[in-house]
Amino acid sequence: MPYDRFGRHLHYLRISLTDRCNLRCVYCMPEDMTFMPNAALMQDDEILRLVRIFASLGVDKIRLTGGEPTVRPHIVDLVRGIRQTPGIREITMTTNGLLLSRLAKPLAEAGLNRVNVSLDTLHAGKFRRLTRWGDIEDVLDGIRAAEEAGLQPVKLNAVVVRGYNEEDVVEMARLTLAHPWQVRFIEMMPFAGATEFQRMMLVTAEEMKARIEAALGALEPVDGGRLDGEARLFRLPGARGQVGFIASVSQPFCAACTRLRLASDGHLRLCLLREDEADILTPLRAGATDEELRRLIAAAAWRKPWGHGLAEGEAPQDRTMSQIGG
Ligand code: SAM
Ligand code: SF4
Repeated sequence: MPYDRFGRHLHYLRISLTDRCNLRCVYCMPEDMTFMPNAALMQDDEILRLVRIFASLGVDKIRLTGGEPTVRPHIVDLVRGIRQTPGIREITMTTNGLLLSRLAKPLAEAGLNRVNVSLDTLHAGKFRRLTRWGDIEDVLDGIRAAEEAGLQPVKLNAVVVRGYNEEDVVEMARLTLAHPWQVRFIEMMPFAGATEFQRMMLVTAEEMKARIEAALGALEPVDGGRLDGEARLFRLPGARGQVGFIASVSQPFCAACTRLRLASDGHLRLCLLREDEADILTPLRAGATDEELRRLIAAAAWRKPWGHGLAEGEAPQDRTMSQIGG
């Protein structure tokens, strides 16, 4: 399986379960976002069939995302179904954590391995400004529930936005002194809908790192500074956890990319930041056999673009982050 024409082994599939969300983060979607009708989304049986086909091609790692994956009905059953698929060795989820206090335990019991919880600040007011209406206490409860349920190590994702939370990187990094968490700081990427805002309010990983080091001391590279997925990892002196930087804009890691993305409407997105996609759901609904779908997927994977074009000023204008699945 899917190898692309550059020899990258595409064994990691991110599935957007829905474009819907119970928040409206300023860097992700407009407040008056219009969502797709339910019938346009992949249904549970369609997702499970596609997971089987991807697994038969060599995909062994699945991340469930969205939109907000926990607002999808039957999410626990879906995780259980994916867990039962031969060949899948790891299932993770990226979530805003709002519903985790209720769902962490059943999700862990159904076979979810870990969660990445998005949390950009530790201040209730700033959290509300970034998410437009979220209550930070719900997320903190969710993180506790995830730990108790054994969804460890918990990873926190923080998108850093100038004028909103660039100073908070210090407090967020400080969390790793007491907790065995991985706190990952993400450079904001441009998408349709908010491209100008996303470009203007970008804070680079270099600036985040300098802020953290000025306040908390030198960050020691973990594993010789090699990439761990998309993050470069560091450790503060004496820390239990790790600090990571995802510098998609200023230091792209396209050469090491092993992912494919299935958008919630069943389009296979070959690169987060490129518009090229292959519609898999329409042929599936038209009666394509597993073998036909397998060939369609392998052919699309083969043409995965080498990398994104942010440095050349290109940004995808066809979808928001929430539709593709971050
Ligand atoms: N709703 C879930 C959540 O927020 O974790 C999952 C979907 S969200 C689109 C996935 C990740 O993308 C989150 O960590 C979010 O912070 C990040 N994200 C959203 N918009 C982004 C942007 N413009 N640039 C970089 N990361 C972004
Ligand atoms: Fe929702 Fe996640 Fe996008 Fe925030 S980042 S609006 S929580 S999908």
